[in-house]
Amino acid sequence: MQFTHEREFTYNRSYRGPIRAVIFDWAGTTMDFGCMAPAVVFCKVFEEKGVAISMEEARIPMGAHKKVHIGLITEIPSVRRRWVDIHGTEPTSKDVDEMFERFVPLQEACLSEYSTLIPGTNEVIAECRKRGYKIGSTSGYLPGMLAINQADAEKQGYIPDATFGAGDVPRGRPYGHMVLRNILELDVSPVQSVVKVDDTLTGIEEGLNAGGWGVGLAISGNEVGVQLDEWNAMPEDVKQAHRDRIYPTMYQRGAHYVIDSIADMIPVLDDIEARLKRGEKP
Ligand SMILES: [Mg+2]
Repeated sequence: MQFTHEREFTYNRSYRGPIRAVIFDWAGTTMDFGCMAPAVVFCKVFEEKGVAISMEEARIPMGAHKKVHIGLITEIPSVRRRWVDIHGTEPTSKDVDEMFERFVPLQEACLSEYSTLIPGTNEVIAECRKRGYKIGSTSGYLPGMLAINQADAEKQGYIPDATFGAGDVPRGRPYGHMVLRNILELDVSPVQSVVKVDDTLTGIEEGLNAGGWGVGLAISGNEVGVQLDEWNAMPEDVKQAHRDRIYPTMYQRGAHYVIDSIADMIPVLDDIEARLKRGEKP
């Protein structure tokens, strides 16, 4: 029997090298446990328009460009109903523009109140550096806001090699553009060697859309939405109920791994290294 090799077999090329870069989100991932800073200010700009919104409503679109985020809040049916009750008309793009204009200075004014690094960040970054990984970062924040975060992070010892925000690309999350800009800036290849870490669903998708591995942080960010003290004070069964809700949601969005916070990253990185060596792809 004779095989016609060129017709009967195909050959797959697979990357078996190491992780080359890890790209971290900012709020809720490396700093600002609970992702509080943006949520507080979204509530404030709607309050100024006479329409009170809850923190839960403010958090639904988290991760998006902040102006897009304000527009998405106005599309939440409960918010829209209250808006119409109060203003007699539906919210317009002019309203969104006005709220965004207010959002920027209000956000910049309070960012430093919420800029403490999340426990484990410096230890995980140090281990990543020991392994030779480059460190990138992305954020839904605009450049002026990011500059404040970067300065506060630097004071606490965290300096990523690259940072791109929603103002630096044509399209923010869930598009992979910010991750791809990091990849260019960090000069790493291929995309399978890149891991993206984020506390929001859209931020997980950003990494997947760029072609890399996606890690979801269930507890330290937007999905629980409480500060560290409050989380620590919760009874164990309440904590577990949050995990039971958030872990499957993040897996369903395509996360390869879901963990509580950045502090749990090292075993994830070990596992990705092992999978790459076996020829697995994200
Ligand atoms: Mg975040």
